[in-house]
Amino acid sequence: MNRVRLIIFNAAIGPLDYKVPDGMTVEHGSIVVAPLGPRQIIGIVWEEDRLPEESVPDSRLRNIIEVLPVPPLKGELRRLMEWTADYYCARLISVARMVVSSGGALRGPITMTEYRLTGTEPERMTPQRAVALDALQNEQATIRELAELASVSDGVLRGLVNHGALEPVEVDIDRPYPRTNADHDQPKLSDDQKKVADRFVDAVKAREFAPFLLDGVTGSGKTEVYFEPVAAALRDNRQVLVLLPEIALTEAFLRRFEDRFGAAPVVWHSGQKATERRRAWRAIASGKAQVVVGARSALFLPYANLGLIVVDEAHEISFKQDDGVRYNARDVAVMRARFEKFPIILASATPALESLQMAESGIYERVELPSRFGGATLPSIATINLTENPPERGRWIAPELVEALKDRLEKGEQSLLFLNRRGYAPLTLCRNCGFRFQCNNCSAWLVEHRFSRRLACHHCGHEEEPPETCPECGEPDCLVACGPGVERIADEVAEILPDARIAVATSDTLNTPEKAADFVAQAEVKAIDVIVGTQLVTKGFHFPELTLVGVIDADLGLEGGDLRAAERTYQQVAQVAGRAGRGSKPGEVFIQTRHPTEPVIAALEAGDRDAFYTAETEARRSAGAPPFGRWAAIIVSSEDEAEAKEAARAIGGTRPNIQDVMILGPAPAPMALLRGRYRYRLLINARRSAQVQDIIRNWLDGLDFPRGVRVSVDVDPYSFV
Ligand SMILES: [Zn+2]
Ligand SMILES: [Zn+2]
Repeated sequence: MNRVRLIIFNAAIGPLDYKVPDGMTVEHGSIVVAPLGPRQIIGIVWEEDRLPEESVPDSRLRNIIEVLPVPPLKGELRRLMEWTADYYCARLISVARMVVSSGGALRGPITMTEYRLTGTEPERMTPQRAVALDALQNEQATIRELAELASVSDGVLRGLVNHGALEPVEVDIDRPYPRTNADHDQPKLSDDQKKVADRFVDAVKAREFAPFLLDGVTGSGKTEVYFEPVAAALRDNRQVLVLLPEIALTEAFLRRFEDRFGAAPVVWHSGQKATERRRAWRAIASGKAQVVVGARSALFLPYANLGLIVVDEAHEISFKQDDGVRYNARDVAVMRARFEKFPIILASATPALESLQMAESGIYERVELPSRFGGATLPSIATINLTENPPERGRWIAPELVEALKDRLEKGEQSLLFLNRRGYAPLTLCRNCGFRFQCNNCSAWLVEHRFSRRLACHHCGHEEEPPETCPECGEPDCLVACGPGVERIADEVAEILPDARIAVATSDTLNTPEKAADFVAQAEVKAIDVIVGTQLVTKGFHFPELTLVGVIDADLGLEGGDLRAAERTYQQVAQVAGRAGRGSKPGEVFIQTRHPTEPVIAALEAGDRDAFYTAETEARRSAGAPPFGRWAAIIVSSEDEAEAKEAARAIGGTRPNIQDVMILGPAPAPMALLRGRYRYRLLINARRSAQVQDIIRNWLDGLDFPRGVRVSVDVDPYSFV
């Protein structure tokens, strides 16, 4: 090729053509550096005919500067990128940013300097130096990391370097990861498990696209089962990607993985250091990373040789990204498997209705694990009608559940209370004048967090200290907490069971992998009697001594009126109930509700999953909701309220008139103010076969908006705020 078309890493500019200088070799997918005005930019070489642009004469083309030393993006990945941009009405370059998500990785191998003790003592010893020498035995890391480790200043360590007590070591930051071994520790599978595992292993060997729905009750050992096809892919020298919803909980997963395969997998998530991401990205692109475990963003990485994807807890809504490219990793993962021709396993005890429907219509192969591993039985489930048997005044735990908690503590067994609300109380108001604390940037109440003494907005992260006096009427000591959050439930448990050891498990308390690992370890050695947690505790945990689960407010999720409210409530409660009785002792579950006859609550109590899914499927079908109809949202936002409203009206005014396509709005979004931006929303509802993306593109393409206005499209939205 002597001229090429590039997509370039600048959202404001479309594809550009360049000349390839003599002696340089590029191919489609090559990542290159090219001049743009006086600057240099990064671009990806793309097929010209797939990006129609007006052709520029050869004489006006500038030369590509350099081809970066990374493998070109494969054709299958480029097709996936195009599909994603097209389906989610996003820009190709925005998808490309998710693929090339480590700028540092694009440069060649580099080293960094780490330090370690030499064994010689400094001529002059100070208390600080003594502390450092003591703390850094057998450690090797950067000065900054060592300083943190020893709790001394960087200066102390630099002094030790000057005195020859610490020496520099050059380290290749792309050093290889430890190798996993497919046969490190072969587990003993039950007959049910073995049958399913064999089916998956055959599919990996066949190297064909094969989508599976692994539908297994909680505690049936899904992880052990899908580890077998992982092993098969490893034996075949192919890479594996395991997508997990909550990175906070991966620590327990990583340990199981290491026990099975003898080494940890490569981890990928947004919280990693730049050097870790760089190392992982390069290992993934070169094919040296054998198994990658990651959050949804791991899906778009340029795997050299992928042979299997597993999406664990595939029903989880955290696979849907709600900003930037609004993709659903579960759905895009299936497309990736299709483009690259390998099997994909969607694993869940409570599959999304969309996935079940795909299995019904024969597109996914459904494989079931109907019983718990090792003969454990499913827990018994009972509802507590809060209208008939309410808790004491000012309390939230009903008498029956209180008794059950006491009983478990006496027996030395563990209990789990579930409430999907972080903090102490969801609303704080003034007893004197009724003033409510609201976020300045969002249409949301501030949530009191008593442990950390702050009022926080869960949407934008704004925090303030609770004031001594009411900001409205000036009355002192007049603020009251309304409603319960997990911290308040923990307080109540402490009053009921003064001797119990209580742990609050939320994204506030388990906000690092270390804290999550510590929590799991504590629970496993029975150093915790009662766990009070949010949706974070609904998945992944396996505590054999946990025999009681109490759902504090099963009605909470049903309130928002969102189309998946019933499904989500079912999934959350079924998942948290599934934590009970996973060992030899049977489990018991109490669901507190004011609406015991609601179909979803009744189905939970009866343990009748099919009844719930059948009723919910019919409700969706008659409402034209997914998976039978389609929704898309157009969100218009601006820091200026009038501007947002005007732009939304302009869009509404040019709405296309298409048969069987219903367009609602514009109307203020349920979150009318979010992170300082005023928001208006239009909703599109159409039959499944409608080309919603084309309709939206044609509609919005001709419109111009002021600079401050942002128009974003959400195809198959999960969040309706
Ligand atoms: Zn007041
Ligand atoms: Zn806010």
